Parts: sequence; structure tokens; C-alpha cells
Amino acid sequence: MFETFRPARSAWIAVLVVLTLAATASAQVRTAFPEKRGFKLTDFPRTVKLADNVYGYEDIRQPGFTTVSLFVVGNDGVLIVDGQGSVGATRKMLGEIAKVTSKPVKWYIVGSDHGDHTAGNSVLPKDITYVVTPFSKAQMKLDAPAMTDDKQVIAVGGIEVQALYLGRAHTGGDLVAYLPKQKILFMSEVYLNRVFPAMRSAFPTEWVTVIDKALKLDVDRFVPGHGFIEEPKASREELIEYQKAMRAVIAEVNRLHKLGLSADDAVKQANWGPYKEWFLSEQQGPIAVRKIYEEIEGKLK
Ligand SMILES: [Zn+2]
Repeated sequence: MFETFRPARSAWIAVLVVLTLAATASAQVRTAFPEKRGFKLTDFPRTVKLADNVYGYEDIRQPGFTTVSLFVVGNDGVLIVDGQGSVGATRKMLGEIAKVTSKPVKWYIVGSDHGDHTAGNSVLPKDITYVVTPFSKAQMKLDAPAMTDDKQVIAVGGIEVQALYLGRAHTGGDLVAYLPKQKILFMSEVYLNRVFPAMRSAFPTEWVTVIDKALKLDVDRFVPGHGFIEEPKASREELIEYQKAMRAVIAEVNRLHKLGLSADDAVKQANWGPYKEWFLSEQQGPIAVRKIYEEIEGKLK
């Protein structure tokens, strides 16, 4: 009896193993770690076509995750949203853009004013037109007019591109770029795909609200400022997952604050659950605790 049962059972196990392997092979692993995602570092930079004349650009920055820029090829020139983190990296990006089009780079939307997106800007064309919030203009000491409204349409020719200020998030001067016809929203550092919420200069609770506003726009594909560009369906799921991570981090720090812990003790006791596995959690966890403490205690202006 036992002898006849065994072959049947092992056959079922074999079928299950094959099915599991097939499912694993077809599903894209959701992670910001290039090697877990199936990439080699030599695969970068990567230009990802998102729609006709619209491209995402991923390059690797220290300590090993991607910084994402967007570029749009209009009839009248190229618009960039966010640069890269060094003169060399931005020069390399301009080289990759030149492989796609011979049109000149004319516009630059400052999604994030942080150095890992702007430190190479000195190699951009001197006559480039910046689109920037008053906040980020001040941060960057930019000699350019700032936006006077929460929305500015940039006339690149043939494609409508809107720079939108949805509120304070990662930097305080955050802009996102919306292409209503293509239903693409480049979110810069408002969306860190599978990267631990980075709050050094953030407004944590307002940031969660900004993501709500983004989710209400008519968008098929949300593009992050760090982490990988996802396919449309996954991009919405991951933005929701990112917002969930932000809420979880804020809730955990509120819990520790209510226990009466000092920020230092809260850093030691914080339990990030699944988000501990996200890129930068070791580095960004303590920063998040201190920033959320400031917010709770009304020290964040
Ligand atoms: Zn960044």
C-alpha cells in the first residue's frame, strides 16, 4: 500500500515544484536591489521608453540603488525632470539622451532639489529654462524665476507636460511632472520605490497626503525618483505600498513617542516590520524617528 502511494505523491510534489518555479520566473521581484531584481551593475544606465517621445532613465548611485530621471522629446526640444548626482553622471545622461534625439535640451523641472539629483547640473546647457518652486529655488540658490502657481504647463511642442506642486513631501519644494495624455506621472522623490522612507528634510504627514493627491490623478504609470520603474499596474500597487510604508513608519514612531521614549531610545526600539528589508532602512530609520519626533512635537515649520 505504502509502496504504491509513494510514486503518486512524489509526482504531485514534482508538479507543484514546476508550477512554483514557473510562477516565480514570470513574476517580477519587487525590490530596489538591482541584483535581486535580476540586473547586473553593468546594465546601467538604462533608458526605458514609457510612451512615444517619453523616457525614464535609471542610473546607479551609491550605495547601489537607482536614481531616476525623466526626459521628454518635444517638437521644440528636450525637457528633463531631475538630473543625476554628479557631473559625470549627468554628462553620461546627456550622452544617452543624445542617442535618442539630436534636439537640444531646453527645459529642466526641479522635482527634487537634493544633491543626488542636482549636483551635475553645471553641465546642462547654460540657457536652460528651469521650472522650480520658490522653496527649491532658494535651496539651490538658482538664478531663475520661480513658479507663481501650483501648476505650470511647459510648451515643449506636441506633448503636454505639467509641473505640479501637490504639497510638501520629501524636500518641501517637491514637483511632479504630469503628462495627461500619456497618463504618466513622474513623481521624483515623492515616490521611493521599495526604498525606506527618507525623511532628512521631509514633512512626513503632509507627504502621505501628497501621495493621496497623486493617486487621484488620471494616471496609468507612476514613475519613482529612486528604485525601479515598474510596469503600469505594478507602479500603482507599489506607490500604494510606499504610502503604506510611510504610514507604518509614522505610526511606529508615534507609538514609541507615546511610551515617553527619548528619540535616541526610540531609534533603538523601532520595529519596522517588513520595511526593515527595504533599501537604506539601516541608514534612514534613525533619521525618520528624529524627523517624526520633530513633527509630533511641533518643531517642524
Ligand atoms: Zn534622492
